[in-house]
Formats: sequence, C-alpha cells, structure tokens
Amino acid sequence: MSYTEKTQRTERTGVAWAKYQCEKRGIVFEVIPYTYDVILPKNKYSIEIKTSKVQHDVGYDSRGKYCFRFKDKQLEKNAFDYAICVGLDDDYNAVVSYIVPQQYIYEQAKTTNNKNKDWSFKIPVCNYTTHSLKAKWTAFRTVDVYQKFEMCKNKYDLLDIDNKSSFTYYKNKLYKQLNEYDNLQDELLSKRIVDMYNDGKTLKQISKALGCSVKTVRRWRKKINIRKSGYYNKRRHHNEDGTPKKIHKCKDCGYETRLPSRMKDHKNRKTSCKTRPNTWNVKKEGEKQ
Ligand SMILES: [Zn+2]
Repeated sequence: MSYTEKTQRTERTGVAWAKYQCEKRGIVFEVIPYTYDVILPKNKYSIEIKTSKVQHDVGYDSRGKYCFRFKDKQLEKNAFDYAICVGLDDDYNAVVSYIVPQQYIYEQAKTTNNKNKDWSFKIPVCNYTTHSLKAKWTAFRTVDVYQKFEMCKNKYDLLDIDNKSSFTYYKNKLYKQLNEYDNLQDELLSKRIVDMYNDGKTLKQISKALGCSVKTVRRWRKKINIRKSGYYNKRRHHNEDGTPKKIHKCKDCGYETRLPSRMKDHKNRKTSCKTRPNTWNVKKEGEKQ
C-alpha cells in the first residue's frame, strides 16, 4: 500500500466509525462527497472528522499517541462545530473517538506561532499510571493530556441535541472546561518549576525531576519570566524571610556557593580540587609570582 492509500484507508475508517457511532444513536449523518466533512442535516451542525493511526514515539514520553492535524480553513473562527477525532490501533481498529469543540482548536492554534497555518495535537493512548514508565512521570501525572481529553472521550451525546441553543450551551461548556484544565496544568507546572528553581536546582535537575527535556524547562522558564525577574534570583539565594541562604564551602579549594546544586557539580567535575587544583587557583598563584 502506498502512503496515500494508507492515509485514505485511515481516514475512511474514521468516517465509517463515526457514522456507525452516530447511526446507532439515531443521529442522521451526511458525508460531503470527496471530503471528510460531515453535516448533521437535521440541525445543520457541521462536523470535521479526523483520524489518526496510533504513532509510536520514542523519548521521554514513549506512550503511543494519536495525532490530529488541522489546516487552513479548519483553523478559522467558527469553521465548524465539533471535530470528531478517531483513534485507530495498528490494525486499523477504531479504538476511541474524541469530540472536540472547534473553538478550542481555533484558540489553541492562535496561540502558536504559525506560519504554515496548521496545528495538531496529540492524545496518548493511556495515562501514566498504566504506562510502564510511570515512575519517570510523577510530576505530570496529575496534569496529563490523556486525562484532559477524557472529558471529550466518546461524547457522541453532544451531537444528539436537537435544540440549537442547548447544543451551543454544551459546546461552550466543554470548551471552557478544556481551557480550565489547561490553566490548572500551567499553574501547577509553573509552581513546581519555580519551587525547584528557588531551591537552587539546575535546569537539568528540574527536567529530570519532571521527566521532560531541558528544552521544555527552558521554554517554561521564559514563560514564567524567571530569568528577567530579580525576584526569583533573589529567592534562589535568599530564604523566604530575606536572610541569605547558607553558604556551602569546599574544604579542598575554598569554593563558595549558596546553591547546593553548584556544589554538587563542583564535586563531580572531572578534575577534582583535591588531586589537582582548578584553574582559578593556578591562575591566582601564577599572578603572585
Ligand atoms: Zn573544591
């Protein structure tokens, strides 16, 4: 099978699955020919169907994921009502559908720097607790993307509302709930990063504790504005009551720092100050002569 054939097979399977799910609930469903757009003719609700076969990622989060991509007109305001995002397993079995309000897709796409006018999001196939790498992911467990989209999972009932104003009410409600979840996620994560930063942890240590890349932590640091704000740097070196934090001093060379992480780095560096003086000392002695 060629790539195009595989894509078409994936997309047609998704449409068939969504149609089946609607039919069995008595929701009339019309596919617009040569597209994956759907109209529910009774109330003219407009639906976009996206289908993704599970992708197997490597790296920090090695859970399988569905990836749903939106382009151009689909990202315009009020382009449609809901996206039905269908996830398929490796053998093209439909496993799950997510009913996502278009407003959420529109707003999210707007926040990303988007020259190509496309936007995608990924939903993992399981949560961290059922994943073998759960130990690595303790920090994110409460704010997992998988958990977030649970509120959209198989919610075909949202399409089975004949009253237009009720339909819109529930659509807006779901949009708000998704946003609230995002805000909570941002809040919890910022707080954790700030706490660890104030404890004197390095970006590498923070990334390890959170189970994400250093790049991610750096992006968050920028977002929280840790670097530019003197407040966080003061907190890094001072206790909450304003008194300076305890100084750690190296017995071998006299190196002083308030950050335990720096002392740890100092002790772990390749040339130990015990067997060989570091360059700082060598230079100082040279100047005296
Ligand atoms: Zn030393």
